Amino acid sequence: MLTRFRPTLAEIDLDAFARNLDAITSRLPPASRLIAMMKAGAYGHGAVELARICEERGNVAMISVALVEEAVELRAAGITLPILIVGPVTAPQIPIILRERFVLGVSGPEVLASLASAGGEGSPGCTIHLELDSGMGRMGLVDGDLSAAAGLLRENRWIDVGAIYTHFANASDPDDPVTFQQIEVFRRMLRRLRELGVEAPLHHLANSAAVMRDIVTPGDWARTGIALYGAEALDRESSRLEPVMTWRTEIARLKEVPAGSGIGYGLTYHTRRTSRIATLPVGYADGYDRRLSNQGVVLLHGRRAPVVGRVSMDLVTIDVTEIELAAAGDPVVLLGRQGNEQITADEIAAKIGTISYEILCGVSARVPRLYRKGSDLRVVSKFNEIMDGSRDRSTESSPSSRPSRGAGT
Ligand SMILES: *Cc1c(COP(=O)(O)O)cnc(C)c1O
Repeated sequence: MLTRFRPTLAEIDLDAFARNLDAITSRLPPASRLIAMMKAGAYGHGAVELARICEERGNVAMISVALVEEAVELRAAGITLPILIVGPVTAPQIPIILRERFVLGVSGPEVLASLASAGGEGSPGCTIHLELDSGMGRMGLVDGDLSAAAGLLRENRWIDVGAIYTHFANASDPDDPVTFQQIEVFRRMLRRLRELGVEAPLHHLANSAAVMRDIVTPGDWARTGIALYGAEALDRESSRLEPVMTWRTEIARLKEVPAGSGIGYGLTYHTRRTSRIATLPVGYADGYDRRLSNQGVVLLHGRRAPVVGRVSMDLVTIDVTEIELAAAGDPVVLLGRQGNEQITADEIAAKIGTISYEILCGVSARVPRLYRKGSDLRVVSKFNEIMDGSRDRSTESSPSSRPSRGAGT
């Protein structure tokens, strides 16, 4: 039963994710396919569960993660789609990549050198996607690396260049010409590589923002992350995708305090009138950013209620004086929709000077994920086994009492 878990949950709408997948793939030009970016636990949503949806929908060509560990987790869970690792990998991780047949994103000459010395003729082969730095200055081969890289690839025919790619620095701003400059640089680098005898059957450049701007070259693949999760990919436009995560909790305590009462650490807030202050069982250890102290807003009875006082590690206080119906146990939405009101990751991010990505992947592992698919509900928590412990001791407990198969709230 869900009731064995804390009431603070991130609810993940797998149907909304599937609809976003369909909406995004239908935007792509002919012969272009989607690489679903699922690093950082699918931006905080849970990579395994969402990867299963990708497999079911059948419109995702490949999944991509940053870390070898993230790729291993997906394979261990039975995900069979090809997995591209884009993060920089270390030399000791290369044998794992070869063994598991992950696709290696080659982010620099040192990775290529490590790969070449880890394998060799007679080794089972490895598919790489070769990254070029077209102007972001962070990852990828630069002009000066191309000739040596081509030499290594000629000597190591067991390395298969499955694709060549680059990453945009500012595609979310349609007025910044740098994106088109990057495309030009990428094409020039491709020509140079071709002269050096290196070609790939496939290219990919576009992130979510570039897909939303429809600047994907037909046949190229696209690497989308944030749009899949329904947060805004563009700086000043709406992509009209559905937020996938609703982060909710409930009022743990409610009390009335007189005017002039100090609230929370540092007593940074003092009530100006007789006030009703509710305490929520969520804090910065869950990813509710401490910069939301005296800044944040939550939803209660379909209305906005302000965070008052500092966000603590495990607790947040809100002022519910205006919401007469408020009572202990009432559902509270931290992120998402309630009634006609909505708090988006972009709204929270703007308040504290960051981006939706950080808000979403910041929801910590301490927060159970509740997956909703049709009428099916399933809780995934790092505490699943501990909370399930009684099952091992009492084998007669019915399946419906297992938290991992929660039947309802
Ligand atoms: C994270 C990432 C993406 C996805 O970016 P979004 O803005 O979330 O679509 C694409 N490519 C690379 C290399 C990335 O690291």
